Amino acid sequence: MRRHENSLLSLIEPAMYEELAKHAVVVDLVQGDVLADVHDTIDKVYFPHSGIISSVVELAGGGAIETGMIGRDGEFGAGLVLDDKISVNHVAVQVGGFASTFDAKFINQFAERHPAFRRLMMSYEHFHLAQVQQTAACNAVHSVQARTCKWLLRMRELAGDELTVTQQFLAQMMGVRRTSVTGVAIELQKAGMISHSRGRIQILDVEKIRRWACECHEDVQHHYDRLFPPNVG
Ligand SMILES: [Zn+2]
Repeated sequence: MRRHENSLLSLIEPAMYEELAKHAVVVDLVQGDVLADVHDTIDKVYFPHSGIISSVVELAGGGAIETGMIGRDGEFGAGLVLDDKISVNHVAVQVGGFASTFDAKFINQFAERHPAFRRLMMSYEHFHLAQVQQTAACNAVHSVQARTCKWLLRMRELAGDELTVTQQFLAQMMGVRRTSVTGVAIELQKAGMISHSRGRIQILDVEKIRRWACECHEDVQHHYDRLFPPNVG
């Protein structure tokens, strides 16, 4: 397990980490894999090294909307496991990669033995909730263009400048009609910010995307920086 590849793992104090690492199983995150569904009990906790996991709320009418993105700066499952809760979302791999995984029962026992680890996981839960709340406000108030730019910034942070994602999927994630996303993609391409072709978006001008994005990405990032200041473990 390569510790530096996940920001939360890199914050764990070395002796504690050594004990934790013995129990890690590194797995592929395969695009489309469902890690948990609504009402599922969580049996595994994921700390991504790369790739992106999305939590999505699915609606009865067939619509869906993404409420949170988890990458190498986070984890999925620990908060639920520590609190003995079931999943309230559909959680799936959006961009393939790798993750260190741990058995849920082990994580529970480990957190009992190491209050610092429990605190770290609870801080991440707190951050994830902040992200979900910001997303709810963003979806209700900000324009599709600003939200698309915000989404691109977050995706870039976790997966780089070249994103493999269809407009259909992007529209589903954002809970809008495909034509809305297509219109925005054309505008962004005209403005030299991205180039897009079937299933691929290449980010060309990140500064301009930042200027067109709503403030939500930055606000969420501030929460993260406050909860997880660098070099403190
Ligand atoms: Zn927003």
